[in-house]
Amino acid sequence: MHRSILVVLMLWVGHGEALHGQDSTSRPRFQLIVHGGAGALRARHLTAAQEAAFKATLYSALRRGYDVLNEGGTSLDAVQAAIQLLEDSPLFNAGRGAALTSAGTAELDASIMDGHKRKAGAVAGLKRIKNPIALARLVMERTPHVMLAGEGAEALAQEQGMPLVPQAYFLTEERKRALRKVQNSVPVPAGSEYGTVGAVALDSRGRLAAGTSTGGLTNKRPGRIGDSPIVGAGTYADETCAVSATGAGEYFIRNVVAYDICARARYRGDSLNVAANDMVLRKLVEQGGDGGVIALDKHGNVAMPFNTEGMFRGRIGPDGKAAIQIYE
Ligand code: ASP
Repeated sequence: MHRSILVVLMLWVGHGEALHGQDSTSRPRFQLIVHGGAGALRARHLTAAQEAAFKATLYSALRRGYDVLNEGGTSLDAVQAAIQLLEDSPLFNAGRGAALTSAGTAELDASIMDGHKRKAGAVAGLKRIKNPIALARLVMERTPHVMLAGEGAEALAQEQGMPLVPQAYFLTEERKRALRKVQNSVPVPAGSEYGTVGAVALDSRGRLAAGTSTGGLTNKRPGRIGDSPIVGAGTYADETCAVSATGAGEYFIRNVVAYDICARARYRGDSLNVAANDMVLRKLVEQGGDGGVIALDKHGNVAMPFNTEGMFRGRIGPDGKAAIQIYE
């Protein structure tokens, strides 16, 4: 009697571990993780209403991706759907509401990677594309290239029937204020420091995908390109592992963060948690690189470390229940 209760308990605990992100090797169940950037998000700076608005938008993005996965769609489609919704929201630093360059312009970067096919598409320095993640996907699927920048990328969009939007579409008062503050060396308000968006997903057929979209850093030099469109740095997916990063891009480029996490798991046999934590909580911290990642492996294990005060993040699985968090 006692022994059977113990066995049931052990099984139950084992199940709980798989759901809560400790490494398991069970068969894949679909998963979608999104982030909305990492940064200084001191509670006193985010009002309850702001916090609710961020969470509601993350929730909508998770549900959008969930619908794709739940209908048997691909992780690639789920990643794109979730990111597009976040790009359309002025709250996040991607698409509308992008952080502004020192010249007051929006220059957008994005990338997407299909881990199963090991294909990737990326765009950088866009000024007139409403959904950079959609154009990144067109680069992947309709050209022999991986990355297109600026006018050449926008020409592809036009060729493929994707309408251009005016610069003004991207510019919000909030981001203009944040730029003025940075230029006057005043600390920026919560949520305007980072706010890049990204997603990683595993579909019911075990295929992984990752994507990231951003306006980059407030007050960046015109022409600066961050890690988000760089495959291996801000975004990476293969057959076993998918990562999307957010933070001070230069550090993520120099440390090839997304790829390094997957490589450590693959070559050293590190668990996803160990690999992601060591990169974000030790290596980047030692160098002063602020930020975080969302990572997912083919078994559905999840890691979401960040070394900032908070990271907008959320997760949804087959039960359709979304878990959304900002702080530790
Ligand atoms: N990583 C992005 C960049 O450096 C910014 C961010 O994640 O907030 O462009």
